[in-house]
Formats: sequence, C-alpha cells, structure tokens
Amino acid sequence: MGRRSEADYDVIVAGGGAAGVGAALGAAKAGAKVCVVEKYGFLGGAATNAQVLAYCGFYHQGGEPIQAVAGAGEQVLGAMRKLGVGAEPYHSETTGNWIVLLDPERLKVALDRICAEHGIDVLLHTRVAAATRTSDRIESVTVAGMDGRSRIVADAFVDASGDANLALVAGLDYRVGDEDGRLQAFTMPMRVGGVALEGRIDREAIKAAVVSYNQTAEHRIGRSDGGIYTRVPGTSDFWWLIVDREMPSLSSRDFTRAEQVARETALGLVDTLRREVPGFENAWLAQTGPQIGVRESRHPAARYEVTYDDVVTGRLREDGIARAAWPIELHGEAGKPEYHSIGAKGYYHVPLDALRARGLDNLWYAGRVIGADSRAYGSVRVMGTAFATGEAAGSAAALSASTGETPSAEAVRAMLKEHGALI
Ligand SMILES: Cc1cc2nc3c(=O)[nH]c(=O)nc-3n(C[C@H](O)[C@H](O)[C@H](O)COP(=O)(O)OP(=O)(O)OC[C@H]3O[C@@H](n4cnc5c(N)ncnc54)[C@H](O)[C@@H]3O)c2cc1C
Repeated sequence: MGRRSEADYDVIVAGGGAAGVGAALGAAKAGAKVCVVEKYGFLGGAATNAQVLAYCGFYHQGGEPIQAVAGAGEQVLGAMRKLGVGAEPYHSETTGNWIVLLDPERLKVALDRICAEHGIDVLLHTRVAAATRTSDRIESVTVAGMDGRSRIVADAFVDASGDANLALVAGLDYRVGDEDGRLQAFTMPMRVGGVALEGRIDREAIKAAVVSYNQTAEHRIGRSDGGIYTRVPGTSDFWWLIVDREMPSLSSRDFTRAEQVARETALGLVDTLRREVPGFENAWLAQTGPQIGVRESRHPAARYEVTYDDVVTGRLREDGIARAAWPIELHGEAGKPEYHSIGAKGYYHVPLDALRARGLDNLWYAGRVIGADSRAYGSVRVMGTAFATGEAAGSAAALSASTGETPSAEAVRAMLKEHGALI
C-alpha cells in the first residue's frame, strides 16, 4: 500500500479485544502500517480481562456447526490450535448454540504471535486518552502509557475500545444503554479451583446452594437457574457466570461499587458451595477479574444502526461486510436472559455504514461499538462477530488511508473475500 502522508501510521486501532485484533489484522493484510493501543498488559479484551471464556458467533445456531466467521477470526483460532487449544465448535443442547471454549493464557500468547507475524505495532499498558480533530477528521490521538503521554498521528482510526472511548474523546454524540438509558446487566465471571473431577456437577445442588446463600447474603443472587458454567478446557477449573449486577451509570464510582460488591458476592458464594455442594469440598475462588464483564456501555453515533428486524428476518444486503449469526441475547434484568433467533438463512449482514462514525470521515467502528439498536445489539456484540466487523473496519480504514476517500462497500467486500472472510 502506498503511504499518502507523513503520519506515524496508516491506521491506529484503539483497543485490543476481538474487534481490535480483527481490525489490526484486516488493516495489516491490506498492507497498512498499523498500531494497536491497549490499556491492559495483554490483548484479548473481555476474553482475557473479564474471563469471558467462550467465543460466540463463529457458527450458526442449529444442529450442525455452519461457519459464519472466517478470515481474521479463523486465523486466531488457528493460532490457538498451534498452542494446543482444540478451538473446536462445542454445542449447547439447551440453546442450540455453538461456541468455542478458550484458554485465556494461551489466547494471550496466540494473539501476541499473530500480531507479530503481521508486523502490527502493539502498545500495551497504554490508553487512548485524547484526540485532536478538524471538523470532519481525527488528526491524532494522545496516548497515556508507562512513559507518560505522547501524540501519534494516523490517516485513519478504528474505535475498537468496546466502550467507545475514542469516539468519546473525539466529541461524538452517543447513547448510553438502550433507548431509555438502561444498561444490560454486568456480570463478574469467576474461576473456581479445586473442584473434584469425577462425575457431573449437580445443577440442583448448585441451585439449592444459591437459595441458601441468598438467605443471609447482603447482596442476593438474581439467577435462580444455577447460572452458566462449564470446565475451563485443559484444567479442572469450574467457570461460572452467576454474579450479575445492575449498573446505574458508567461513572468510575458506580464501577468501583460494582467491582467491590461482585467480589464479595463471589467469595461468599464459593464458601457456600464448599459447605453444601458435593465435589466442591476443597474448592476455592481462583480468580475474578481483572475487571467485571461489561455487556453494554456507550453506543456512538453511526451512519446506520442494525435493527431488530434486520436480525430476526436474517436480512442480507449488497453493502454487507460481515455475517452475524449469534441470536439476540438480552440481559435487561440481571439473571433473566431473553433470546430471539435469527430468521432466513441463520445469519444477517452488517452493512458498512454501521461501521462508519457519524460526523467523522476517518473514524471506523468495530465490535460492540458499531451502530445497532438496543435489541440488535444483543446479537452483534459477541466476539466471533467482533472479529468480522473488526476485520472489515480495519480493511476499510486501510483503504481510506491509502486513497484519502471513503471506500465503497463493494471495495471492502472484495478485499475481505480476498483475505478469506465470509460475507
Ligand atoms: C458477562 C459477559 C458474558 C459474555 N459472554 C460472551 C460469550 O460467551 N461469548 C462471546 O463471544 N461474547 C460474550 N460476551 C460479549 C463480549 O464479551 C463482548 O461484547 C466482546 O468482548 C466485544 O468485543 P470488543 O473487542 O468489541 O470489546 P472488548 O472485548 O471489550 O475489548 C475492548 C478492548 O479495548 C480496550 N480499551 C478500552 N478503552 C481503551 C482505551 N481508551 N485505550 C486503549 N484500550 C482501551 C479494553 O481494555 C479491551 O481490551 C459477554 C460479555 C459479558 C460481559
């Protein structure tokens, strides 16, 4: 790719989760000079910072694992397999969904390796903290890291920060939560060690332990179904999603309170399991965090919002740049998830305009930042789909950096297909 300007990079990606890695790979495969800026000391986003240990969205719902996401996402699965993680589709009998179970430590290394192989400049422990802009373009971002603050310049930018932090500091409009300002429940996934390997985990015993915990607990558990759990691949650890919190706002104060309460709850709950559930006699809380799981935060202004109808009718479109195959999964009330399936072929298209910032020509969105109404958001946000929207955003950003023009959906589609993506 011919460089147009004296910028430090063609493309800067804010955030190194599934979307950010997808974007960085998409841009690098297009020949761009790419920097990905990540505030934690590792890549992976929610998979590694909040212990969301399963990729959703790689396959259609149903009896057979039909692939919906390839390209960058498939490259990441391949990198994990090289490290001995099966990364094969796993079927949930209850929901009919297919997931890919993760080992977070191997995932971190797989992502380091794949970025290095593609010549991507990765800046860890560094946060995108400010942006300078003209009326219609971002010129540079200020990053705050271990060596203080510095300014880096690029021709195009991708906001893959999950929380739309680049759009925020660039001064774009945004919505918080749904159309009434309500946020989906936050959850603190936990790993429990020391669980006996023999036999099936008794869900009825877990449900009874939750009832027992709730009788004396200051902060009660809302879920009465025992939560979502499985074993972490290759270990005897029990991975459990049951500690849900409603978040009143996105302030640091409310985040602090949610983290503290969720931690207390997790510890108390595991103590109850140890006393009351067979197989958990020697169990301990091995890990929460590094942070609570954020399902939803800011939705910055996009040129198109994927709608509920797009999802449930399985709408395909000529300007589609990614397949999305995970059903709508809403967590409006803590502990009471609600599902809506995708119609027609079992996937729908995300259009290029859902990745385009409204008000800035060189800012692209990826992952859970893309334009979607509150119900469609319950589908597009998952990590398999985030790799796909990320790769598309990175490809579009690279194309716009090389030409100075906004690329057509046709050009982005052609590039994605050349790089192995499914559309
Ligand atoms: C409890 C829970 C369970 C879930 N279960 C599943 C599941 O089983 N499977 C699934 O696929 N999805 C699941 N999801 C949804 C999924 O985890 C997210 O929607 C997904 O991670 C979105 O990917 P992303 O890359 O857009 O954002 P994220 O994974 O949030 O990544 C954003 C990255 O940006 C970084 N960042 C943020 N701000 C800045 C900044 N200013 N500067 C630099 N870096 C920054 C963050 O540190 C992070 O690494 C779940 C979510 C939650 C909360």
